[in-house]
Amino acid sequence: MEGIDLKSCPFCGGEAELRFEDPKLCADGFRQYSLRANVCVKCKNCHFKTETYIGFVDLNIEKMELAGSFLESRAVKQVINRWNRRANE
Ligand SMILES: [Zn+2]
Repeated sequence: MEGIDLKSCPFCGGEAELRFEDPKLCADGFRQYSLRANVCVKCKNCHFKTETYIGFVDLNIEKMELAGSFLESRAVKQVINRWNRRANE
C-alpha cells in the first residue's frame, strides 16, 4: 500500500498487512457523518495482530465523499507505530 511501511512480523518474519474491519457509518450529530473502522496490523503468516484502534474519517453525505483518507487517520499512524516499534530500538 502506498506510503505504508510495515516491518515484517517480529515472531515469524512473515509479511504484515494493515487491516480495516467492521466499517460502519456513524452519525455524529445533525447531518454529520463519519465512517469508522477497526484498524489493526496483522501478520499474514502466523496471524499475530496488534490491538485494535478505531479509525474514522468524516463523510460528506450529500456528495458521498470522504473528507480525507483512512490512511491519514490518527488510528492508522498509531497502529503502524505500534507494529513497527521493537524492543531493541
Ligand atoms: Zn507472524
